[in-house]
Amino acid sequence: MAALGEFELIERFFRRPTRHSVLGVGDDAALLAPSPGALLAVSVDMLVSGRHFFADVDPEALGHKTLAVNLSDLAAMGAKPRWALLAGALPEADSNWLAAFARGFFALADAFEVDLVGGDTTRGPLNLCVTILGEVPAGEALLRSGARQGDAIYVSGTLGDAALAVAHHRGRISLGTDELRRCETALLRPTPRVALGERLRGIASAAIDLSDGLAGDLGHVLDASGVGATLQLAAIPRSEALNLRLRGTERALALECLLAGGDDYELCFTAPESRATDVDALARALPLALTRIGVIEKRAGLAVVDEEGRALPSLPRAFDHFAR
Ligand code: ADP
Ligand code: MG
Repeated sequence: MAALGEFELIERFFRRPTRHSVLGVGDDAALLAPSPGALLAVSVDMLVSGRHFFADVDPEALGHKTLAVNLSDLAAMGAKPRWALLAGALPEADSNWLAAFARGFFALADAFEVDLVGGDTTRGPLNLCVTILGEVPAGEALLRSGARQGDAIYVSGTLGDAALAVAHHRGRISLGTDELRRCETALLRPTPRVALGERLRGIASAAIDLSDGLAGDLGHVLDASGVGATLQLAAIPRSEALNLRLRGTERALALECLLAGGDDYELCFTAPESRATDVDALARALPLALTRIGVIEKRAGLAVVDEEGRALPSLPRAFDHFAR
């Protein structure tokens, strides 16, 4: 394989015609023209080899996920994703790997009409960092701080499967072939809930995307809003694979995956009771499962009530990179 220089690499794999940018890849900075009346929603996420993904991960899936986790953040704000920047450290310039990575990345960028407008490329331990920019009408962004007593709490999709796949790879559980395939898809190919986020503007009182697990992420909403919550364990949407473990000897692990698993990239949002019919209509229109899992309470703290109506004595801890 011919050696690939830094600029050749950028030219070949990351410079694409843009759809809605004044100037994209190739100069010292990109030039963007935000829509009148819109605020820019900006977020950055880093994926580190060995920490966020297994080093031998399929590069196409990694390209997908690198962008997906960022799109998910904008979805949680109710913003429309428009532009992305990609900074990467690569151990080597392997064209097969890069071609596959770019395929996964641009397939998702195309699906959401996001322009890649710049980045940075260096040699180093595999590490990928995307900055995403989107737009949201001023005053309409979904914040973590808007939940109010009596609001219903919802989540999209199902939770826990990505964590179940990780548990399988770590030898903590053994999934069947079909189960593993489904859980792997959840782990490697999360679908960012962008359309949901945009359409929740004016309906949801607060929102967050679930990257570190339901208990911890919902906890951020509760803290920001100065409220508490009660969740019904039985109501939390889960796959058949997870449900099976929840009813068996692997219940503790299943609970951990469901409540603190991480990597779900579903949205958790709150909405006043008066908007319940709007949420149901949205679920049908998208179509996407939007499940009511609990209610916002005045008293602080998060309680999860089990199938017998008893509060779980303790909740599995959310992922924390610096937890001791
Ligand atoms: P500078 O040295 O001025 O920071 P670089 O030489 O790092 O610029 O990059 C050249 C051009 O290629 C810039 O427009 C930069 O945004 C873009 N670029 C570099 N790496 C990537 C990448 N991985 N994906 C997209 N664009 C990139
Ligand atoms: Mg540079």
